[in-house]
Formats: sequence, C-alpha cells, structure tokens
Amino acid sequence: MNELKTLIQKMFRKDCSECTNEELYQALLTYTKKLLSDKGYQDGKKKIYYISAEFLIGKLLSNNLINLGIYDQVDEFLKENGLSLSEIEDAEPEPSLGNGGLGRLAACFLDSIATLGLPGEGIGLNYHLGLFKQEFHNHLQQETPNPWLAKDSWLIPTDVTYMIPYRGFALKSSLYNMDVAGYHNKSIRLHLFDIDIADETIVKNGIDFDKNDILHNLTLFLYPDDSDDAGRKLRIYQQYFMVSNAAQYILDEAVRKGCTLHDLADYAVVQINDTHPSMIIPEFVRLLTEKGIEFEEACQIVTQVCAYTNHTILAEALEKWPMAYLEDVVPHLVPIIRRLDQRMKEKYPQKSVAIIDDNNLVHMAHMDIHYGFSINGVAALHTDILKTSELKDFYEIYPEKFNNKTNGITFRRWLLHCNHELTDYITSLIGDDFKKDGFALEKLLEYKDDPEVLERLLAIKTDAKKVCKDFILKNTGVEIDENSIYDIQIKRLHEYKRQQLNALYIIRKYLEIKNGHKPSKPVTFIFGAKAAPAYVIAKDIIHLLLCLQELIKNDPDAAPYMKLVMVENYNVSAAEKLIPACDISEQISLASKEASGTGNMKFMLNGAVTLGTMDGANVEICDLVGKDNIYIFGQSSEKVIEHYEKSDYNSRAIYEEDEEIRQCVDFILSEELLSIGQETNLRRLHSELVNKDWFMTLLDFNDYTKVKDLTLADYEDRSAWAKKMLVNIAKAGFFSSDRTIEQYNKDIWHLR
Ligand SMILES: *Cc1c(COP(=O)(O)O)cnc(C)c1O
Repeated sequence: MNELKTLIQKMFRKDCSECTNEELYQALLTYTKKLLSDKGYQDGKKKIYYISAEFLIGKLLSNNLINLGIYDQVDEFLKENGLSLSEIEDAEPEPSLGNGGLGRLAACFLDSIATLGLPGEGIGLNYHLGLFKQEFHNHLQQETPNPWLAKDSWLIPTDVTYMIPYRGFALKSSLYNMDVAGYHNKSIRLHLFDIDIADETIVKNGIDFDKNDILHNLTLFLYPDDSDDAGRKLRIYQQYFMVSNAAQYILDEAVRKGCTLHDLADYAVVQINDTHPSMIIPEFVRLLTEKGIEFEEACQIVTQVCAYTNHTILAEALEKWPMAYLEDVVPHLVPIIRRLDQRMKEKYPQKSVAIIDDNNLVHMAHMDIHYGFSINGVAALHTDILKTSELKDFYEIYPEKFNNKTNGITFRRWLLHCNHELTDYITSLIGDDFKKDGFALEKLLEYKDDPEVLERLLAIKTDAKKVCKDFILKNTGVEIDENSIYDIQIKRLHEYKRQQLNALYIIRKYLEIKNGHKPSKPVTFIFGAKAAPAYVIAKDIIHLLLCLQELIKNDPDAAPYMKLVMVENYNVSAAEKLIPACDISEQISLASKEASGTGNMKFMLNGAVTLGTMDGANVEICDLVGKDNIYIFGQSSEKVIEHYEKSDYNSRAIYEEDEEIRQCVDFILSEELLSIGQETNLRRLHSELVNKDWFMTLLDFNDYTKVKDLTLADYEDRSAWAKKMLVNIAKAGFFSSDRTIEQYNKDIWHLR
C-alpha cells in the first residue's frame, strides 16, 4: 500500500488521514485505474461484441478492488488510518447508463466474460444525464436529470472517432472506454460512444429539452420520452449512432487483425441485447457492400455474425419503427431494409414473419430472427413461450436457431461486495471455491440441520437489516425496525410486475388491523421503483404507495404493526443495501410476462425466501429449492395465456362478486386516501383495476393473500425459516452469470 500512500501525498500534499472522502476517492480511482490497465486486456482472434443500449454497472470502486484481489489490503490500510472504504465510496457517483434488468444483465455479463478470460467487449452509449433521477414531491414521482460524469471518472478518453451519416448531416463520434476487471483475471473494455457537442444546458424544467436539437441532445438521456414523433425519432437517431459506431469499430478491428471481410465470422460475433441495436444488421450490410462485397454475400456474412437475445413478450416493448421515420433519419438504410425484407418475403410469404408489415412498420425483432444465427430467450419458461406462442411461426421456420440461456448474476457484486459478512461466513464453512464456481455453494447443504450454522445465518441477516435500516433512514427519513419482517419488492414499476397487487394486500392488512386483528409480528413493506416518465398508470401506482406510506405512518393503530417505505431513486447502490437485508422477496409478476427476472436471483443468493408466481426464472428457482423453500401462488402461465387468447378475463366481474376484493379496491378512493393524495390519480387507478386490469391483479389476489399470510406465519418458526434461507443460498449456484456466459460461449459464440 506504499504506492497508494505515495500517490495520495503526491496528489494532495498531505497525509491520507487529513484528506476528505472526495480526495481519497480521487486517489483510489487513479490508483485502481492504473492497476486495471497494467493487468492487460483479454485478446484473441475472435471476439464477442455485446451491444446494448444499457449497461447498469453500478459503482465500480469496491467491485474493481475485489476483482483485482486487493480489497482486503486497501480496506485494512484505510482502517489503520482511521478511514472507511464504504464512506469513501459514498463520494462515487453511480454511473447512470441503465434502466433495469436488461442493463444490469449486460453489466453482470461483462464481469463474467472478463472473469472467464474470454475476449470480449461491450458497446453502448455514454449518456450524460443517464436515466432520470427520481424524486418524490406531494407523493408523486418527479424526474430530474442525473448527471454522473465528473472530470475524473472511470472513463478513459481515446482518439477513436467515426462519422455517422444521417439525412442531411453527419455527426462525429468520440469513443470512451471503461475497464472491466475480471475476478483474478485480465480486464476487458466497455466502449461508450458519445458526441463532443452534447449540451446539458438545453435541459430545462426537470428533464424537458428540445427533442429536435439532435446536434446537442443525442447522448443526453437514456430512453428519452417517446410519447411523440420527435421523441421516437430521437430514439432512432440514438440507436443508429450506437450501431453505426459499433459496426465501423468491429470491421476496423477485424481488418487490423487480418480479416478479409469474407471471413468476418472468424473474427467477430455480435450479441444483440434486445431490439435496440437491431439496426446493426442493415448497417453491416451497408458497410460491407460499400467495401465491395456483393449484397447476397453480405447477407450471409451478417447472418453468421449476429445473434439476438429476446427479453420480453410484451407487445409494446417489441420495437416496430414506421418506415417514414427511418426515411427521415437514416434514408440510406431504407433500401437495404426493403431488400432484406423482400428477400425473406420471397421465401416465407406468411405475414406473421414479415420484416415490413402492411402498415409499413419495420419489425426489428423479425429482422433479428431472419438475419441472426441464434435467438435466445432468458429463462426456460420464457424460451418455451417464444417457441410455442409468441414466435411460433419463426420457430417452425428456424427450429435450430432457438435456444435458452437462463439469466444469471455476478456473485462478485451480488454476494462478495454487497454482503461481506455472509461471504466470510460461507468461506469459513466451505472454503472460497464458490467465488468462481457457484455450484460449490451446494456444500452448504451439509449444514442444513446444524443449529449453530442456522443461528449464525439469522444473526447475519439481522446485521444486514440494521445496515439497511440506516440506509432507509438516510434515503427516506423513515425509521424502520430491524426486528420486523422485511418484505421487499424492488424493480421497475410496471403493471405486469404488479406492485398494485402488493399494495392491495397492504390495504387488506391495514383494514384487518383497524378491525382489531393485530398481526403477531410487525412487517415492513419496502418498495423501490422508477416509472417511465410517460407511463401514467405506473406513476399512479407510485402515488398510491406513497399515500399508503403516509396513512400508515400516521395511524397509531396500524403503525406499531406495519410500515410501508418507498425508497427514492432506486438504483444499483440501493439494491446493494436492500437485498442482503431481505426476508421475503416479492416476485409476483403475472405468469408468462416476466421473461426471467434477475432480482429474484440476487435475493435468493442472499438468503431471502421467494414469494412468487410460476413465472420467468422463478420456475427454475422452485425446481432447484423445492416447494418447501419457496412460496408459490397464482394462475399458471398456460391459464393466463388462455385468458388472453379467449379474451375472457373480466376484472369487473371479480370486483362485483367478491366483497373483500371490492373493499380493498374501493379503499383507493376512501376518505382517508383522498385526504392525502390526488383524486385524479387515485380515481384513474381505481378505474383501471375495475374496468381493465390488463395484468390480472384481481385474478390472483385471493391466492396471493392466502400464501402471503402463510409466509408471514412460517417466519415465526425461526429455525425452520433459517433452513429455508440456507437451502436458497446453497442452490443459487446455477444463477451465477459465469454459468450463463459459459453456455453462451459453448452454444453461440464459440470463442476458443
Ligand atoms: C437486478 C436489478 C433490476 C432487475 O430487477 P428485476 O426484479 O429482475 O426486475 C433492476 N434494477 C436494479 C437496480 C437491479 O439491480
């Protein structure tokens, strides 16, 4: 640590004990960046390029120290000087380059690619203001910019630049790199493209800006509001900027290594993360034909290089761009897309597989499937649904292209970094193989009847709950009780994830208490969620949760038994505090709608017990831990899909027939809540539930209530509960992203 000491002296001309946390962070940043680049980068003839609109990487300091293998030394050194690494880490801004699960997955994958020593790189955009920052005012979500770029950051400027052509003008790009350390291995790079002339000062009133001012707004925000034409076109400008840079970069690198372009597939494999990067297909064709390759051959080359990951079956999330927008933004791609479409229409005339439909909409996913060599879903159930229903017609044409890659999470961040106490205890029991080989966690099963071990697991959980309590006090001003049950639902706010179902349960519990049924153990219901700025009902659900929080807090009958807290600006740093502290992990999406989920995996790994539907990776969690160690409720995905096919779900009928449900739903419009919140929002939400309820909240309400009551009751038997915790941790190995990436490599990428 002498080097670090000298560096601090040199940078600030004082001893480390006299430095501020900001200064110490600067020093550690400089020190760590140097170590990362000194390690050297993973290389090889063929590379995987993981292209994604999002990389939700989280803070990097601690994680980099862990992966470099020097966390303990640095921690020790700081402690000796009366300093604390976790306080220093507070000075690090969280990069705002992602939105939810898909972006977090990309970040976990980079960690695993580097850790497994595979030659790979991430490619995305350097959003200056990222996804918006969430604030609560008057029990409503408000969006503000989230500037995270500082003079000194993990970004490394380069002199790589490309010209990106649009209708009537071209934009010059600049490339920034971020090093991603493998765990005890070399680094790989995340490439983030940007423009030099992006201008944060055009943003006014929260996150408003001129959407037509492409020269200055292009890389300001991730997912700018697309509720109008200008917003949708801006997304196309961004997507094309990402993929044109990526394609030019990949071709340059391949050629530098001796590629003739005819043999591009020996040098590059491109994983298209959801449909945002899909335009890389016509862009590759454009660049290859410009370089003299025949159109037919260019199509074949692209189809050997590109692989597509599907993340959703929600119709509104499958991008379809009007041809007219593409004409306006990237006219040079239009003839290529038309030819790609025509070529497929000749072979497969059925309308369901057309790239360009009768309304002149370009189906990006269809382009990926025709012109990619692999299509993967992200959990076993999700891939099955793709094959048998959503993409059935494609599966009949290309059965060999379809495959499953159940998502995973990196154990370095989601155990080693976020839960030191649990990590150290597991290590003391079974050694540290599990840090690189998740399946080694199964050795814990030996201890499942050992009272001392079970006791210790409970004590570690209580410690994490105390840390979480401090975080929540800082974040929300609310003091929670570490002796209460922590029931946590943290994820993007979406109707299909059904935070509203959880809210209705909380209303029911509140009414029960008001009627004199006191629960035997207090429960803390914790939420964290951002809603897309234009997603009206999602914001109404946030409003309901915040109103309930206020109501319960001020009610002397209810407050001793229950509490609701909604964490502001839920992000990776918040997740790292909340997940280790969780007792009950809420994974209650409408069956068939959550492609995989990865939050469910993080919770399980940290000893929470899942309360969930048979959806996404919950199905695989259930198979692994067995019915005794998970709480499952709700209609099956088959039944749900049948309801959609027959259009026979009728929430109003349930509401009218079931008095208890009606009471809970109507409480949304009670005097109590109306006196706290906004009538417009609450009325709209009430009406949505009664008249539409597209994600079938009321269908599962009674079963949810029954199973959740049982879960809370089972919590009382502490040693039986601790055993469930242990089994969940022991069986989490399958969900290591190292396993996922090994499968991608074996079945799709074929690197080394
Ligand atoms: C893991 C993670 C998600 C994804 O959560 P799901 O429950 O799988 O939707 C979203 N946001 C953050 C910050 C995460 O860490």
